[in-house]
Parts: sequence; C-alpha cells; structure tokens
Amino acid sequence: MIDRLTDWFGKNRRELPFRGLGDPYAILVSETMAQQTRMSALVPYYNRFIERFPDVGALAEASETDVLALWAGLGYYSRARALHRTAKAVAEAYGGSLPPDPAALRSLPGIGDYTAGAVASIAFNLPTPAVDGNVRRVYARLFARDGGDAAGWVRSLMDKAPPTVVTESLMELGALVCTPSSPKCGSCPVASFCEAFSAGRVDEFPKKRAKPEKRVEERMICIVTDHNNRVLLRRRTERLLHGMWEFPTEEQLTLDGFTVVRDSKPLRSAKHVFTHIVWLMKGYRAKAERASPPENYLWRRDFADLPLPSAMRAWKETVEVIWGNEQNG
Ligand code: SF4
Repeated sequence: MIDRLTDWFGKNRRELPFRGLGDPYAILVSETMAQQTRMSALVPYYNRFIERFPDVGALAEASETDVLALWAGLGYYSRARALHRTAKAVAEAYGGSLPPDPAALRSLPGIGDYTAGAVASIAFNLPTPAVDGNVRRVYARLFARDGGDAAGWVRSLMDKAPPTVVTESLMELGALVCTPSSPKCGSCPVASFCEAFSAGRVDEFPKKRAKPEKRVEERMICIVTDHNNRVLLRRRTERLLHGMWEFPTEEQLTLDGFTVVRDSKPLRSAKHVFTHIVWLMKGYRAKAERASPPENYLWRRDFADLPLPSAMRAWKETVEVIWGNEQNG
C-alpha cells in the first residue's frame, strides 16, 4: 500500500512554498498555520509571515502585536501566540535552531504531539508520526474502524518508506482525495486496500460526533470618536482573542471606568461565529470619557499596524465609512 501512496504523491504533490526545503522553521510555521486553515488561504499568510520573520531569531525578537498583526484574519490566534512562545524558547535554549529530537520538540512551549511529529518527520526525517484530522480520517476509512492506533499504523509505514514522504503523502491524500465530504474514491491510489470503500461504508467513517452547542453572546459595540475623529480601540485581555485589538463594548468601557453616552439607534448589526461562541453584535456611535485611558486603550486614525480580528471586520468598515464621510464634508 505504501508504494502506491508514495508513487501517487510523487506525481500529484502540490508545489507549496515550504515544501522540499528541509527547513524545520518553515515546517513549524506552515504546520501551525495549517491547523484549522485551508491550504489556499494559508499560502499568502505564510509568505508574508516568512518574509517578515525569516527565522526563529527574527520571530523571537518580534513584539506580540507585530506577530498578531500578520496573523490577523487567519483566526485561532492562540496558534500565533504559541508559535511566538516556541520561537523565544528555541532562541534561548537552542540558539535559534529547532532541535532534531522529537522529545525535545515536544517539551517546547507551544508544540504538541502533532506539530512535533510533523517537524521531526518532515524536516528531520525521523520516524515520528504526525496524526491530525486528515490522517485520522484516512486511517478510519482504510480500516473501517472508529478509534484505534493511527499513530502506530503511521509508524509502521515509516519502516517501509522515508518518514518525510510518509507524513507528506498521508497529509496530501487527506487534503486532495480522502476529503471529509465527497472523497474521490474513484481516483484514490489506495482504494484497493480500503475496507470502508470495499464495504460501501465510506460515509460511516470517521464517526460523526455531536457538536456542542455554541454559546450566544450579545455585544453592544461602541464606535467612540473624539473631537479629532480618532476612534477608541481596546486591546483584549480576555483569553479569547488575547492581545488582539477591538472596538470596545459599552460594558467593557463602563467596567474600565469610562463614562459612556451612546446613541439609542444602532448603526448596523453583525455576527461572528467562533468554535464555541457566537457574537451577535450591534454597533452604536458613542462618546466615552475618562481622565486618562488605561494602557490597553488607544485613540487611532488608522489601524494598519494593529492586529484586528475578523470579528471586527464589520466595525472597521463602518469606521472607514465614517472617516470617508467626514473627508467628503
Ligand atoms: S478509497 Fe475513498 S475512503 Fe478509502 S482511502 Fe481512498 S478516498 Fe478514502
């Protein structure tokens, strides 16, 4: 089976900017970005990130705000903070070079089993499985099985082919052929080995888990402007979107000691869906005063260098319209 898979990979592998470099840092960045993100969306972010932070040292020295600003729009910002933490630890403990040792990789802050396996196998060609959702799905279908030892199976393949090739071909098969919905079994290189396919049970694997219900939060976003038409922004201190900048809510402003007077009529509404939470937002023009704003607030006339999450996109556009109207008189 492994021969069929690796032959197919040799002929069908996508050209990606981090492939074939043997650069552990490039693998670390790309694999961190790839969690929860499609490859087509990832590549432009990866290119910008590597241009700005070409190696561990450059990333370790960057501010968290700069790192988050380059991540803005990719979502799941805890990944960016974890990557930043990893770079700092590697700079300090290993002089800026990722260690060619799975256990040492795993012990770094921000690196879990999957990322350690990906870096160790792809960059260092070590027989360390990297089992993500793609590999788990391929395994579940090939063996028509729920659960089981996917990592052990991948390790057994690494006895028969170079670990680099095993990891990348399994990832590629899961991304291009054995996709979550509508897998292309007709053109699958390992269809003749696939138990779910031969039993006509592909749709049954992997077993679907019931998704937890999302919590709904209603938020009153305040577009606060001063006499120079600067807008008030707040750096988040909460766990969700920590370190990102946002247009504050009325509740946050009040808790942070501002006196708030907002319009009664909303400017618009917007919704943002996270993994576990939904924000239902209504935005209002508002005035907010406080003797001196706390350090996690800023008055700004532009946001280009600030990490604003996708959840703030509607409000950023709203502010740009307000500024455009002001310029047009
Ligand atoms: S035959 Fe279909 S279900 Fe089986 S591994 Fe190939 S694409 Fe996946």
